Amino acid sequence: MALIVQKYGGTSVANPERIRNVANRVARYKALGHQVVVVVSAMSGETNRLIGLAKEIMPDPDPRELDVMVSTGEQVTIGMTALALLELGIKAKSYTGSQVKILTDDAFTKARILDIDQHNLKKDLDAGYVCVVAGFQGVDANGNITTLGRGGSDTTGVALAAALGADECQIYTDVDGVYTTDPRVVPEARRLDKITFEEMLELASQGSKVLQIRSVEFAGKYKVKLRVLSSFEEEGDGTLITFEENEGSMENPIISGIAFNRDEAKITVAGVPDKPGIAYQILGPVADANIDVDMIIQNVGADGTTDFTFTVHKNEMNKALSILREKVQGHIQAREIHGDDKIAKVSVVGVGMRSHVGIASQMFRTLAEEGINIQMISTSEIKIAVVIEEKYMELAVRVLHKAFDLENA
Ligand code: ASP
Ligand code: MG
Repeated sequence: MALIVQKYGGTSVANPERIRNVANRVARYKALGHQVVVVVSAMSGETNRLIGLAKEIMPDPDPRELDVMVSTGEQVTIGMTALALLELGIKAKSYTGSQVKILTDDAFTKARILDIDQHNLKKDLDAGYVCVVAGFQGVDANGNITTLGRGGSDTTGVALAAALGADECQIYTDVDGVYTTDPRVVPEARRLDKITFEEMLELASQGSKVLQIRSVEFAGKYKVKLRVLSSFEEEGDGTLITFEENEGSMENPIISGIAFNRDEAKITVAGVPDKPGIAYQILGPVADANIDVDMIIQNVGADGTTDFTFTVHKNEMNKALSILREKVQGHIQAREIHGDDKIAKVSVVGVGMRSHVGIASQMFRTLAEEGINIQMISTSEIKIAVVIEEKYMELAVRVLHKAFDLENA
């Protein structure tokens, strides 16, 4: 007997028929003698619909009230899923985040989980119930409803698995696993049987949308065994996210996947004095405004000045530009400040990079052969990311997928 947490995404609970399918799968696991906790998202499209409604009333909605509204999507699907299980004659009980007591901080719309009370769930599981828990939501110390950020049900699933000491956390979605890249861009993309946790973390942070990045961080911290599977197929083992690397690196593919992301914009502060403290004077006010910065480049100085370039989320480019123009430009005597949101970031990821040289040059040659200009580069031990013009993004992903032979195992 094992304890399994199964998380179902929005497309897997999009209508009563699909919710019945979920119940049938849960029933099969119960029949094998397992204990099952089910975490569900809202029906697909529902969270967007609720956010839209809020914005019709207040264009930039108050975050506390927004969370009160958007958390209702998951409250509907836990009830429906519990009903579907009851219809099959299976003991089931639904739980909102606050009924479990998924305690979070009070950062509405992007709250972090602080603690999970496993007492009620454990008692029900031992009494033979399937516990159906609302994803994406929690409660703060003052009893306010909070949500965990878009895609947050993944994090609920992994956090519950960690808190309950589950044997496996299964993430059911509309794809049958983690692919070498998005099959909509590269039809030859291949499903990976397994991928290391570190690679998954890089892919998620570089733009792969399969798992919310926080859920991967959580899985890493608590060593939760995670598996991504399709809810539309009965068979198949999906992709296992492992903590083991095969030491004999022959077995490791050098590159496991290619991620891409159109969500960033580039800001250049040109002609700044090349002297100590400049990076801090530029990025300090940006950080104070709670704007996340991703890649950063500072050129070597020529004739006493230099250019400083960094990327932020597209939605925050204008805010960052006005902060820089109002608070920083005059102060540091920068010649010019400009933004560019027609960029994309493409990243190749693989633990095999550690033991192979020449991956970066192969990547750059491949892009050069297509005439694609590289604007920024950043690397980690297992990742090389480049910023290029947005219109070349799909081409870049396709040629890199081929150059690294990702279509063949
Ligand atoms: N329903 C929420 C969203 O759409 C959470 C989730 O699906 O994971 O972002
Ligand atoms: Mg999701």
